[in-house]
Amino acid sequence: MRYVVVSGGVLSGLGKGVTASSIGMLLKSLGYRVSSIKIDPYLNSDAGTMSPFEHGEVFVLDDGGEVDLDLGNYERFLDITLTRDNNLTTGKVYSKVIEAERRGDYLGKTVQVVPHITDEIQDWIERVASIPVDGNGDEPDICIIELGGTVGDIESAPFVEALRQFQFRVGKENFILVHVSLVPVIGVVGEQKTKPTQHTVKELRAAGLTPDFLVCRAEEPLKQETKEKLALFCHVHESHVLSAHDVSNLYRVPLLLEEQNTTAMIAEKLNLEIPANRPQFDEWMKMADHVDSLEGEITIAMVGKYTGLSDSYLSVIKALQHSAFKVGCKMNISWVEATCLEPETKTNEPDKYQEAWGAIRKADGVLVPGGFGTRGVEGKMLAAQYARENKVPYLGVCLGLQVAVIEFARNVLGLKGANSTEFDEDTPHPAVIFMPEGSRTHMGGTMRLGSRQTNLQTKDCDAFRLYEGAMEIHERHRHRYEVNPDLISDLESAGLRFVGKDTTGQRMEIIELADHPYYFGTQYHPEFKSRPNRPSPPFFGLVEAAYARQS
Ligand code: GLN
Repeated sequence: MRYVVVSGGVLSGLGKGVTASSIGMLLKSLGYRVSSIKIDPYLNSDAGTMSPFEHGEVFVLDDGGEVDLDLGNYERFLDITLTRDNNLTTGKVYSKVIEAERRGDYLGKTVQVVPHITDEIQDWIERVASIPVDGNGDEPDICIIELGGTVGDIESAPFVEALRQFQFRVGKENFILVHVSLVPVIGVVGEQKTKPTQHTVKELRAAGLTPDFLVCRAEEPLKQETKEKLALFCHVHESHVLSAHDVSNLYRVPLLLEEQNTTAMIAEKLNLEIPANRPQFDEWMKMADHVDSLEGEITIAMVGKYTGLSDSYLSVIKALQHSAFKVGCKMNISWVEATCLEPETKTNEPDKYQEAWGAIRKADGVLVPGGFGTRGVEGKMLAAQYARENKVPYLGVCLGLQVAVIEFARNVLGLKGANSTEFDEDTPHPAVIFMPEGSRTHMGGTMRLGSRQTNLQTKDCDAFRLYEGAMEIHERHRHRYEVNPDLISDLESAGLRFVGKDTTGQRMEIIELADHPYYFGTQYHPEFKSRPNRPSPPFFGLVEAAYARQS
């Protein structure tokens, strides 16, 4: 097993995740099996309890792991399936060590950060790196380890120390360190400043780690003199100072690194072979070119809760973009704050109300993504109603399916006050109810999480066409509430079709509407399995219908 560690300095948000997945992609294109581990130095056990509006989306894995969104990057770039253990957090490490201490495993010793926590980190990495991730059961050859946070933070110190020790455990020939840093430009002359990078490398070296490569984020390509200076002050070979300047699209990042001979230099350090042909790389290059040559544009109105952090819906955005690549057009997302569509806003803030409805009317399609909590739910229902009545393509994901069902119950079946018991416990018409798979009384662990099977009920539906003739669909879930089984026959007689159900037939997974160009809802979250060259089918359906509506 070879390890490529990617750390970061100066600032967070430099694109460490993209750098790490790009390197992974390049090594995969050499014919090696590549896995990845993301280290998050926070105390939460997992991302499940963290607000997406603070920390970005909670990514969900097949095994039900609720993890950092960077694991989504790895799954998309490397086309792999990760497990919850591929996300290592301080919370997980400490829990494990404290549990072992309570069991008496340490035989009377004082339990300390060094060596107990640092040993556990190293054991964890070695164990998880060998878990097969590409679906055919083979152990990976290379593991990319992304160290979250910035080097020098108090939180990441035990991980930095563990990685320092780790290079000796696995042998220096099997270990490289890539440090991602920032090279800002200051002043009118536009000088590229190297001092922040010098400082962060100093910090790294004080901890006993020397970077093999520096990846420098900058607006413009690094100048030769900047590279020379960095090489001199940071104890890195000049050719190993890589420029990661702004590019036209995300998929160009691996190409940018390749142009600077990165793959060959890493291969040399890790003693990897370079094959004569690299079809995966060629495909990737084609994709990057294709993304730059998209023509025309469609607009999808995304009705959600916003705080200005677009990472909160990262996978949804990716799934829309992947779909647009396949259609061949650009994707424009028009963010609509759900509460602004509600009558209360009309009274209190008429401008906002007009603007929000204007965006809905202008859009080629409407998307209501997943969500929790009451705020904005009524606005989402109004958006679903608008799309249904005006035959505008609609996709509802999880909560987006639930609001579509409630709206239909209210306005088509005439069930006044129909609601989800999540939002109104005393609703006279519970259209969506709490349906845990396990205990009803125990709140912890009642979320239905991870991959579950959906059985299509008929071939005569959009789902059958979009999933290319599959009658069994496996997608990821993250919810507690579901459509009330008692209401199904009434809803169905009125025209709402439940074309996908779980294996018991009790849980509704896919809704469609007859006589509508595209009205589709999924109880699951299809966005998590979307790939750049294989867009998620329900999203593709939306984008395709939105595009058709334009022409
Ligand atoms: N709040 C809803 C539920 O728990 C929807 C969840 C979601 O959209 N992920 O069922």
